[in-house]
Amino acid sequence: MGESDLMVLSTGDKIKTVRSHEQLAPKRLYWERRVARRARKAKQNGTTLTEAENYQRAKEQRARIYQKEKNQRQDRLHKLTTKLVRDFDVIVLEDLQTANLMKNHQLARSIAAQFWREIRSQLAYKCVKYGKELIVVNPYKTSQICSSCGFDDGKHALDIREWDCPNCHAHHDRDVNAAKNILSIGLGQTLVKPA
Ligand SMILES: [Zn+2]
Repeated sequence: MGESDLMVLSTGDKIKTVRSHEQLAPKRLYWERRVARRARKAKQNGTTLTEAENYQRAKEQRARIYQKEKNQRQDRLHKLTTKLVRDFDVIVLEDLQTANLMKNHQLARSIAAQFWREIRSQLAYKCVKYGKELIVVNPYKTSQICSSCGFDDGKHALDIREWDCPNCHAHHDRDVNAAKNILSIGLGQTLVKPA
C-alpha cells in the first residue's frame, strides 16, 4: 500500500491509486461552492436553510456527485479484488496498523486507510467465496530486508524508492521488495499453521 500506488504486488505489478475523485473534482468543487454561497444568501435574507429551495437543490446536486464518486471507487475496487482472488490462491496483505502509509501526511493517510479497509473486507469475503486464502501480516522490517538474500540493510527513508543490497547486490524497487517479503512472511505463517 502506498500513496501513488494503491497496491504493489510481489509479482512487480503496480496498481495506481484510484483517482476517480479527481475526475469529478471540478464538478464537486462547483457544487460545494454553490452550496456555501446559497447558504450565505439564505442567511442574509433571513430564510432558514430548509426553506431555501436554491440551497436545497444545490445540496442535492452535491450529494449526487459524492455518490457518483463513491460508486466509481467501489466499482474500481471490486474489479481489482475480484481479479486478485481469481488470479491467486493465497493472498498476503500487510496489516494497515503498522504499514508505511501511516507515515504519510494526514489526508493521503485517511484516504489510503479507507481504501485499505474496503480492499481487505472485499478480499476477505471473496476469498471465502472462491475458496482462496487471505493472510494478513505485520510488515515489520519488510522495507529494509533484501528479499533475495535476507540481508537487513537498516531503515530506508520513505523517499528512497530503489536500493541495492550491499550483500548480494540485487537491485530493488522498494515496494516490490517489501511485497516479496510480505508474501514470504505470510507463506511462512501458513506453513507453521497446525493442519
Ligand atoms: Zn541481498
